[in-house]
Order: sequence, then C-alpha cells, then structure tokens
Amino acid sequence: MHISQEDLARSLVSHWLVGHARRLFGPAILALTLLAGGSSAFAFNTIVIDPGHGKHDLGASDSLVYEKHINLDVSRRLERALRSMGFRTVMTRSDDSFVPLDTRAAIANRYRNAVFVSIHFNSSYKNKVSGIETYYRSSQSKLFADLVQRELIRNIGAVDRGVKTANFVVIKKTNHPSILVEGGFVSNEKERSAMTDPRYRQAVADSIARGIIAFHQMARR
Ligand SMILES: [Zn+2]
Repeated sequence: MHISQEDLARSLVSHWLVGHARRLFGPAILALTLLAGGSSAFAFNTIVIDPGHGKHDLGASDSLVYEKHINLDVSRRLERALRSMGFRTVMTRSDDSFVPLDTRAAIANRYRNAVFVSIHFNSSYKNKVSGIETYYRSSQSKLFADLVQRELIRNIGAVDRGVKTANFVVIKKTNHPSILVEGGFVSNEKERSAMTDPRYRQAVADSIARGIIAFHQMARR
C-alpha cells in the first residue's frame, strides 16, 4: 500500500514536469498580450491574495504538514508570478500571523479594480478523497472560478472536484470577483507528499496565475 502511494505521487510529479516548459514560457507570452491591450469596465490591475489560516489557526494538518504553511508558500509564489506580469498584488498576510476573516475581506475592499483569491488546502476524514476544487459566491465570480479551476486541472492533473458555491466569509464579504481555491487534500497521502515538493507548490501558483490572466483577458472583451 505504501509503495503504490509513492508511485502515485511520482506520477503526479512527472505530470507537472512535462508541462514545466510550457508553464515557464506561457506566462511571458501572456504578459506581453496583457501589456499591449486597452481597458474595459471590468478591467482589474490588482490581485488581493489571501493565504488561509495562520499562527494558532493551523488549518488542515497531517503528518507534520500544516495547511497554513502551504497556503503562505503558494501565495508568495503566486505574488511573484503576478508581479512579474505587471500586476499589483496585495497579501492579506505575508507571515505566520493571525488575521480574522472579516479583516481579510476589509483589506480586499480597500482596493478598486481588484480581484480576490483565497488559497487553501483541503482535508477529509476519508483519506482516499483527493482533488482540487474552486469556490465562488457571486455570479460575477463564476467565470473567474471556472477559468482558475480549468488551469489547475489542466496543469496539475489532479481529480477535478469542480467549481462550487459556498458562503465562506472571505468570498461573501469581498466586493470584487472573489474565489477560494482548495488546492488538494492534506489528508490524502499522495497529495500531501506532492505538497512538500516546491515544484508542486509552484505549479499550483502558476496555474492560478494563468487562470487570473485568462479572466483578465475575458474581462477586456
Ligand atoms: Zn483552509
């Protein structure tokens, strides 16, 4: 059982290595397209990135892997990717601190022309459950969720748990197009093992960045 889990983790790793070159050069081309365009009523230039949990709020945890750390690392990678493409980014936390949910939404609402992305990883008492899902609440956020989820599934090769609605505080109280990404299950051995690999965390961040770019492009039409 243990060996077969490792094989699964290895195949997941090789999946993102295959797409690595495409991910490296894709954003650069998209960034050029981005800089060349005009603006529209829906155009945004700021991405508020919300790394879930922090400090005593650990989030999901298993075998010394803590969701709060994975969330922050993926968020920092997403921040770097977006800045390199010319976007302004805002982090609701940039270290291991506790920020209440209402404060996170309030931070987001300080900015105009922004979208909001909350980064989380999942947990289930059924440790076989795996995959990636993206949540939204308002109708203006549905397309955004669809595009980010599409890029995650395309690039990561995880189980597609789909796009769902929920009343999570951070996506309910933000005025912008807002999504919450659950980038895999800490409770699943294969996905937990993948999360400890920085290449996997980079692939998740790059996929979310690609989804944001796709939404930005759609909003301009
Ligand atoms: Zn969480």
